[in-house]
This record gives sequence, structure tokens and C-alpha cells, in this order.
Amino acid sequence: MEYTHRYHAFPTQTVAAELKRHIDIHRQAYNYTLYEYENVDADNIGSAYKHHYRLPDWKDEFPVFSEVNSKALQRTVTRFYQNLSNLKAQKDNGNTVGKLNWKSPREFRSMTFSQSGFELKNTSGRRATVELSKIGDLKIRYHRELPAEADIKEVTIKEETTGEWFVSFGLETDEAELPEKPDVDSLDASNSVGIDLGILNYIHTSDGIAVDWLELEVEYERLRREQRKLSRKDEGSNNYEKQRRAVAKVKRHIKRTVLDYQHKITTWLVTGYDAVFVEDLNVTGMLQGDGNARNKQDAAWRQFITLLEYKADLYGCHVVQVEAAGTTKECARCGVETAKPIWVREHSCPSCGFETGRDANAAMNVLQRGFEELGLGWPESTPVETVTATDADDFREVSARHVVETGSPTLKKRTASAVSE
Ligand SMILES: [Zn+2]
Repeated sequence: MEYTHRYHAFPTQTVAAELKRHIDIHRQAYNYTLYEYENVDADNIGSAYKHHYRLPDWKDEFPVFSEVNSKALQRTVTRFYQNLSNLKAQKDNGNTVGKLNWKSPREFRSMTFSQSGFELKNTSGRRATVELSKIGDLKIRYHRELPAEADIKEVTIKEETTGEWFVSFGLETDEAELPEKPDVDSLDASNSVGIDLGILNYIHTSDGIAVDWLELEVEYERLRREQRKLSRKDEGSNNYEKQRRAVAKVKRHIKRTVLDYQHKITTWLVTGYDAVFVEDLNVTGMLQGDGNARNKQDAAWRQFITLLEYKADLYGCHVVQVEAAGTTKECARCGVETAKPIWVREHSCPSCGFETGRDANAAMNVLQRGFEELGLGWPESTPVETVTATDADDFREVSARHVVETGSPTLKKRTASAVSE
């Protein structure tokens, strides 16, 4: 399994200058690969693997290419061929594509060490150091540990348009070393959970936890303010450039806050349950309404599900996507469908009388569909019984800020164990 962990980096001025110099040499190598690909007629051009054999000649002709790590230099040649095949894939999909262009310094901001030339060291608490060959040491904010069984395949160093530096570790964990997933036959309503990805921006679990989505109004207001300022500057001026960075910084802050939050929620889910069921967003559009807001929310949920799936492998948990259509309309107890406009927040079944919250009902349906998907039939003690036994109003709400600050909704398995009693 391959995945990535990314960390904020804090190079000294000297190291930052070296990083920039190296990245610019890689940029020239990238452009030179393009030049040769288009203009040089030779046997060893046409694939990354073959093109690597030209590097000794490059170094003879342009000594500057000897100043960077040679594996990293190969990786840059590979990067060109990867871009080429991405472009081809887009073209095959019927998109209109141009051709690859020379990269300006603004468009080329990173380099990748592959297999060697780097070392992660001094990992203690929330700090660590990355040593890069021919460059030096780079301090990083080590906010989460790399899994012990992971191999570091690659290290990418990037300067964002905000001027901030980041280090990404390309990781690989052998399938054999991943924790085993719980036996499917051992799954029941006490250790599994259905998730409703809410229209009103929160997740609701089948065992009664509602976690609010992040409120980012303050951040978005700040973004609008910085964008208004930008629109008043003269494009190309120093002030414009300064303000452009300010805008990028706020955007990045929002993106990071959301990602951080999603990391916490998904880790909580895969460590707290043996199976997590979610709606399959690829089958049906989930949100009503249209335009930008919907796309944004869809993208956020997709990212959420991607994280959930990779963590499922990492922590040994089943994550299954189920058919999303009708989860809201269908009664979780008797299966009868009732039309439910978006503003109706309660589920009240005209057929069997089952009453609960709209999203709770949907989450229970997701749970049941998950069990069917795994060939288990309906869970023995369904959450429906728990809800009727206790009180539908008893559902707990957890704020997103609480999750961000404490790292978990702190309700891990509490409700679930109540179910099995
Ligand atoms: Zn019913």
C-alpha cells in the first residue's frame, strides 16, 4: 500500500537558499529532458528508464547537473515522463490537451529524492530533522508519527506559493505487515457503524453521534477580505505580489484545517469500530442544489472517504461504500419509502410508526446496507431497537472545534457498547 505523509518544514535561510538553487537545477533538467524528447533523435530517449542513461553525458556537458543528488536527478527525468503519460491519459479521455511546456521558476517548485539521499532523524515529540544529501538539515514539525512498519520510498521538498516549505514522505507498507482485518462473521451492530454524510455539513452515526462539520465562516470572511484587497492592487506590482501571497496563505490555512479535521475523524472511526459503512458518492449525487457550494462539499466528502479507505488498511478496519440512493426516504425499521423534502428533519414512518431524526434514520440504513453488502444480512440487534428503547432525542452532538482541539469526539465506542448490553 502506498500513501503520503506531509509535514511543515522550517529551513534556515542558508538551507532555504540551497533548496531553491537545487530546485532550479532540477527545473533546468526537466526542461532539458523536454528539449531532448522533442529535438534529439537517439535510441535512449522515449522512456524515463532509457533517458536516465543520458545523464552521464549531461554531466560532462553541463557540470551544474553534478551538483545535485543523482538519484533525484533521475527522478526529475521520470517526472517529465509521468507528466507526458498523464497528458496522454487526458487526451485518451477525450479532453483537449496542449503539449508539455517549459517550466518557469513559478511553475516548478519541488524536487524529489528517490530511494536514497535522505534520512529522517531526531524524531522526538513533535520535532524531527530531515537530512538531505548535498543540501543539509531541515527541521520539520512532526505532528504525526510515520507508521513503524512503513518504508520511506521518496521525499519531496516543496516551496508553496505562500513561501512556506513542506516535506512529503512517499510511504509504502507491505501488505503482509498491515494489521489483519477483523473476521467478517464477528461484525455486529456493537462494533460496526453506518455514517450519514449530512446535507447540513455534519456526519451522523448509526449509533447516535452527530459530529458538526467545521464552521469556517470567520476564515472565509478573511479570505473574501484579502481577495477584495487584491482586486484593488495593480497586477504585477510588488504590492500585488505581496497580497497574492496573503490570499494563498488564507486558502492554505482553510485547506489544512479541513484536512486536519478529516484526519482526526477518520482515525477515530477506524480505531473505534471494526467496520465503517459510508454512502458511495460515485453512484448518486448526494446533495441537492447545485453550483460551487455543492462541488466544494462533494470534493470535501471525497477526500474524507479517500482518507477513510487508506486508514482502514492501515489500522485493520473494514470500510465499505454502499448504494446511497434512498437512504433518507427508506424507513430503517420497516423499509417503507416516504418522500421527504429537504427541510423535513424528522423521520416519522406512516407505516410502522418509527420515529427518529432524519439523518439517524439514514445512517441506520447505511449500516444495514453495509451488512447486506458483506453478505451478513441485517445486524442482529439493530440500532433501530436501541433508539426506540431509549429516546430519539438522546442523540449527542459533538462540535467540530471540540474534535480539532482534543483530537477525538471522545465518544469512542461508548454508545456502541450500550447497544450490545
Ligand atoms: Zn417504518
